[in-house]
Formats: sequence, C-alpha cells, structure tokens
Amino acid sequence: MKYVITGGAGFIGSHLVDRLLSQNHQVIVLDNLITGNSANISQHSDNANFKFINHNVSNPITLDDEIDWVVHFASPASPVDYLQLTIETLKVNSLGTHNMLGLARAKNAKYFLASTSEVYGDPEIHPQPETYWGHVNPIGPRGVYDEAKRFAEALTMAYHNKHALDTRIVRIFNCYGPRLRIKDGRVVSNFISQALNNEPLTVYGDGSQTRSFQYISDLVEGIVRLMGTEYHEPVNIGNPQEKTVLELAHLIKDLTESKSEIIVKPLPIDDPKRRLPDITLAKKLLNWSPQKDLIAGLTETIAWYQERLVVNR
Ligand code: UDP
Repeated sequence: MKYVITGGAGFIGSHLVDRLLSQNHQVIVLDNLITGNSANISQHSDNANFKFINHNVSNPITLDDEIDWVVHFASPASPVDYLQLTIETLKVNSLGTHNMLGLARAKNAKYFLASTSEVYGDPEIHPQPETYWGHVNPIGPRGVYDEAKRFAEALTMAYHNKHALDTRIVRIFNCYGPRLRIKDGRVVSNFISQALNNEPLTVYGDGSQTRSFQYISDLVEGIVRLMGTEYHEPVNIGNPQEKTVLELAHLIKDLTESKSEIIVKPLPIDDPKRRLPDITLAKKLLNWSPQKDLIAGLTETIAWYQERLVVNR
C-alpha cells in the first residue's frame, strides 16, 4: 500500500515510517521540517519505497501517485513549540487537515488523524474516556493546539459523515522515546538532558501534576492496529501508568545516576493537573495494551540521548 505521512520526519511520524517501510509499504513523507528533523528519516533515502517532499501541508499539494492512506501527523506538539508557533499550529491542524482530507478524497484513500489527549484540556474526570468532552480554555495559551486539534477531529468526522470518507482518529497521550527532540522543551527531554549534563532538573509548579507516559513502540503498535479496524470515532492510546512530575524527576535522576539538584520553576498557564488515559476501548477494539514499562522505556531513551549529548561531566 502507498501511504502519505505528513509530519513523517517528526518524532512519532518517523517511527511510523520505519514500521510501514519494514512491512514493504510505500511511503511519501510530507514535512516542512519546522519541528521535524531530516536525520529521523535519512536512513531511508536509498529506499525505492520511500520519498520525501519538503512541503508545508497548510498549503495544498497535488500528487500524481495513487494513494491508499493519508496519515496526518504534521503539527508542532510540544507546548514550548506551539506556544511559539501559534499560527502555524492553528493552520496545520485546520487548513492542513482540510488539505489532507481533500487529498484523501481525491485519491479515494483512507484518512488517519493524529489527535491528542489535549482535546480533554485540564480534565475534570479521571481517567479520561473518549466520551469525555473536555475542559479547554479556547483563548488561553494552549488553545492554539487544543482547539486546533478539536477542530481537526470535527472536520474529520464531517468528511466521514458527509462524504463517507473512511477515517480514523487516534488521541495520543504523552509519548517518549528515541528521537524526542532534545530541545523540544517537554518534560522527558528536559529532565534527561538536564540530568545527563548535571544541570538542575526544572520542575514546574510543585510537581504534583501528573502525566501518564507511553513508549513510542507501544503507540506505533496501537496506531497500526487502529488502521486495521473500521472504527471511525476517536480512540485513546496511552499508558495508564500515572506519575507525578516530581516522581518522574527523581526517577530520571536515579536512572542517570545524576548529581543534579531538583529546582522549582513557575507552572505554565493552564497546565493540566492530571492526565490519565482510559484505554478500555483500545483494549477491546484493538486487543492492545502497552507493553513497555516506564523504567525500561526511559533506560532506552536515556541511552539514545547519551549518544547525542555533549555531556559536561
Ligand atoms: N514540566 C516540568 N518541567 C519541564 C518541562 C515540563 O515540570 O522542564 C511539566 C509541565 O509543566 C507539565 C508536565 O511536565 O506539567 C508535562 O509537560 P510536557 O511539556 O512534557 O507536555 P504536556 O503533557 O504538558 O503537553
């Protein structure tokens, strides 16, 4: 099958590209490298099944190829990125989603949308099932991402209902692993690089806020399984192993045997207090559950960072 993957040079997109190429599918990556990295896909440059097009999918594109799947993963996704790239984030999830739905329709292809647990905002119920409508501040700083992804879901469902487009929506909870950009500002990348450099680990707020971290290989497996269903409504993919940010800081400090101290910085506005996926649906529908536990996943991620960081020890 032939897949178009937007954001295929990004963290999650590139792992999906690896997986699909390993199964002998053909892949065309559309990415403008605004937060992606060509090094994530350079290993495929000699593969005849692989093509990279440097393109911002907020602008339309015409492709001559026959396409079976349009998979829309392009978007800044780290809070630090989307708080800077505000309009780019709104555009890629609105105009970009529209362009890619149009491409799927023109090619009679299936369509897969990467959505996010951010559609739940700062949730008021725990864990968060897909049926929860969320608690989002539309005009707060995170609104540029949260509302854009909510719009992307609405547009995808409209194309499904109006044009009978064969669509899927995954809601991705916090994910980490190799290729998570060292400077993307997320908690796992910050803590690992700080710990390896023996710099202070920056805990925002009192560190009592929670996240539930899934390893990249578990997410890719969930995505591939969802593609294999006929289910059109959103499906949570995440690991319900919930940790406070402070617990995560101590864990990473221990795993890296770092001498770093842990310091406190202000909590960003609208930072969700608790995030925990309800994965009942994914378990039932996909026979999927996360396999990689946090210590094993962090150990592999730390090893990847170690190879890339200039460590001031
Ligand atoms: N965080 C932190 N220190 C950092 C970076 C993030 O304490 O150096 C916190 C952040 O305030 C949030 C959690 O870690 O509560 C997860 O943040 P991240 O940016 O990874 O993603 P989010 O889940 O908020 O989208």
